[in-house]
Amino acid sequence: MTTNDAPGERLPIDRQPYEYVIVGGGIHGACLTNYLLTEGEYTHDEIRILDPREELLTSFAKKARQCGMETLRSTFVHHIGIEPFSLESFAEEAGREGELVSTESYPDRPTLDLFLDHARDVVDRHDLDDCHHQSRVTDVTRSTSQEAYLVETDTGTIEAHRVVLSVGLGATPTLPRWTTSLSDDAPLAHVWDDGFDPTTTDEFEGRTFVVGGGITAGQFACRLAERTDVTLLSRHELDIELTEADPYWINWRHIGEEIHTLPPGSEARLDRIRAARNDATIPPYVERRLTEACDDGALKLRRGEITSAHATDQGLSLRFDDGKRATAARVVLATGLEPVPDQPLVERVSGSLSLARGAEGFPVLDDRTLAWRRTDGTESAVYVSGALAEPSVGPFARNIVGARRAAERILDPPDQTRADSLSVSSRGGS
Ligand SMILES: Cc1cc2nc3c(=O)[nH]c(=O)nc-3n(C[C@H](O)[C@H](O)[C@H](O)COP(=O)(O)OP(=O)(O)OC[C@H]3O[C@@H](n4cnc5c(N)ncnc54)[C@H](O)[C@@H]3O)c2cc1C
Repeated sequence: MTTNDAPGERLPIDRQPYEYVIVGGGIHGACLTNYLLTEGEYTHDEIRILDPREELLTSFAKKARQCGMETLRSTFVHHIGIEPFSLESFAEEAGREGELVSTESYPDRPTLDLFLDHARDVVDRHDLDDCHHQSRVTDVTRSTSQEAYLVETDTGTIEAHRVVLSVGLGATPTLPRWTTSLSDDAPLAHVWDDGFDPTTTDEFEGRTFVVGGGITAGQFACRLAERTDVTLLSRHELDIELTEADPYWINWRHIGEEIHTLPPGSEARLDRIRAARNDATIPPYVERRLTEACDDGALKLRRGEITSAHATDQGLSLRFDDGKRATAARVVLATGLEPVPDQPLVERVSGSLSLARGAEGFPVLDDRTLAWRRTDGTESAVYVSGALAEPSVGPFARNIVGARRAAERILDPPDQTRADSLSVSSRGGS
């Protein structure tokens, strides 16, 4: 295995601009780099992945472990490899077919370990680490040559002909208003806090309230209920859905017909995508684990919200929206992340390069190439992958399969005639 640049090492100056600088070395950044190296035939020297984390893919692996995830929600078909190096063939060669877990009326799901080992194999097989430099990108501006961008980071500035933003989901955990009055040492945590360690949550004496109604809350509550008394507090009835959206949203044709026919940058696109996404839902296999934990007496399900909290020597004293109280409590929030367009980098890059933003601050992209449009309507050479590309890539944009969809468009966009004919045929049919 090769190693990436050492932490804190300055980026090289006085060299030719990179062909691609990819901001973010998560699932999407790694997937795109793999495409660029294998399908695009770029060399390692032409690509830089900038990410402050020590290793590629850490962000996903860490979050998955923080919430006690055992298997992926998506199927074995969704991975970041390119045929013939699929997750399925990896499992077969390694004799790990048993880690493809059967799902009723749906293809098997990989265990988290199998998925991560395969993703790591993709990284190692093509030495993607060689492209990784540990730095945080702070802005992208115009180079004086006008033919390249200056990518500014906490370890220096480099030039690139093309920049891809693949910065993941939002960066900031969402906190309910009642948490603001609590001090930092109160028994309150968010599963997506950078320093959150699920193993330390085993040590609390009182009752733990896990707040949230989606898969993260469900998985975490099940994990915790193996060791301590837990209440899963959700403001809505638990809603059961197997997948994050119907699988037909994986196809560009469907995305073209349903999304690209709506005005770029419009609220209508976001409404259509939200209606299609099964956010804040729990798959049946997590529901089964919850039911078992309830039957064992380790878990309670409660509907409602916390309206206020204050700290006492024994823990938190909580008041709920039905007027009831709980004392000696601890709270773990699984309330999601703030929207990705709110990340300061998005605002900065759009300001520096006069790039257009639409409803809720999402970048306005060219649907065919995923290039971010300038405010004058022309295409920049800044591209977007992941949750930030949702208005063009659709409900699965943030998911593993969305990484492949985005990589295809960025590397090899469909020709204009094909894209146009799709929109026209769909408008005709509506
Ligand atoms: C617990 C969990 C389970 C999930 N399960 C599934 C599943 O089963 N199936 C599925 O399809 N999807 C799943 N998803 C959704 C999705 O696949 C993951 O969120 C995936 O990690 C998204 O990849 P990404 O590259 O967009 O983001 P990430 O993997 O989070 O990577 C983003 C990277 O960008 C870096 N970054 C951010 N800002 C900067 C900056 N300014 N400069 C440099 N680098 C920066 C971060 O450090 C990070 O490494 C899951 C998500 C979570 C959280």
